Amino acid sequence: RAVIFSGIQPTGVPHLGNYLGAMQQWKRMQDEAAPDTKLIFSVVDLHAITVPRPRGLLSQWKREMFTALLAIGLDPDRCVLFYQSSVPAHSELQWILSCTASTGYLSRMTQWKSKMSLADDVTAFDDKVKRSLKHGLFSYPILQAADVLVHRATHVPVGDDQKQHLEFARECVTNFNSAYGGQHLVKPETIFSPAKRVMSLTKPSAKMSKSDADARSRILFTDSASAIRAKVMAAVTDSTNAVSYDAAARPGVANLLELLSHFDPAGRGAGELAASADLAGAPLKELKTRVADAVNAALAPIRDRFAELLARPDYLAGLVEQGAVRANQSAEETMKIVREAVELGA
Ligand code: ATP
Ligand code: MG
Repeated sequence: RAVIFSGIQPTGVPHLGNYLGAMQQWKRMQDEAAPDTKLIFSVVDLHAITVPRPRGLLSQWKREMFTALLAIGLDPDRCVLFYQSSVPAHSELQWILSCTASTGYLSRMTQWKSKMSLADDVTAFDDKVKRSLKHGLFSYPILQAADVLVHRATHVPVGDDQKQHLEFARECVTNFNSAYGGQHLVKPETIFSPAKRVMSLTKPSAKMSKSDADARSRILFTDSASAIRAKVMAAVTDSTNAVSYDAAARPGVANLLELLSHFDPAGRGAGELAASADLAGAPLKELKTRVADAVNAALAPIRDRFAELLARPDYLAGLVEQGAVRANQSAEETMKIVREAVELGA
């Protein structure tokens, strides 16, 4: 039986990268899944506290992210939708996994190094940097492994930036199963969408992120049509005012072409679009206008549904409760096996 699991951090309103890289695929998988496939999507609030954030916003961000899951069309009866912190088994399994996980492997994770803007060589940190490093940021890939493994996920649809963490999760399975002799945990497979890495509109060499300090770098679910247009029109490109596709030499233009290709009804790739009769050599303004129109057409219904749902707090609270019950049940099935293997069972 297939189990699809994925998560998203409540670190702000979701953006176009989250949508194209992950969330749109969740909806597609829901619509195409066999009836006995289990679908589980989590708002991973315990991950959101690994980095400093403004005070007083987390509960709002959680509510907004839960709402976003519904706004993209996930069906709360078909899918288990829940807050990670409402299922203690995630933290319990994290601890148990941490006792067989390798610190050497963890220290090679590029994400935590980049979040701290560090050089590749972990051993080269000076003492001041070392003291400021938070253990939660270092070890969160173990929590992420627990998120996936506690539900016995077989398929995990994520963006490209999560590739290494999923490899680590599989390593956690190997370590645990060999330490406790048996096939107790299941190795998950990583699933990527065609848009596995949407780039920032202001720094085309970085991925679009909720946590980027520059709000113009991303397009949000809540952005109006005019806000979308303004951000796309201001997107960083280069000084050649003619459309062509060259990912290495023209990353800003390439990102816009990639975006357009994800919305192209004919399914044309970025290079193909750049060579098409109406875009080849056209002024960049023409490309930007087409991107803004396509993005707005895709996000408008989501934006409307998001606003409608946020105005129904009682309905949301009921779904949050229902999700927590179902997610706890799902996790407990695995925890019975795990506790027994570790000899922590009654
Ligand atoms: P943060 O900056 O707080 O880490 P984020 O934008 O990276 O936020 P996450 O909640 O960490 O979002 O990730 C949720 C999902 O969205 C993950 O599957 C991740 O791989 C995917 N994702 C995030 N950014 C992008 C992007 N720019 N392109 C494609 N997928 C993305
Ligand atoms: Mg992220």
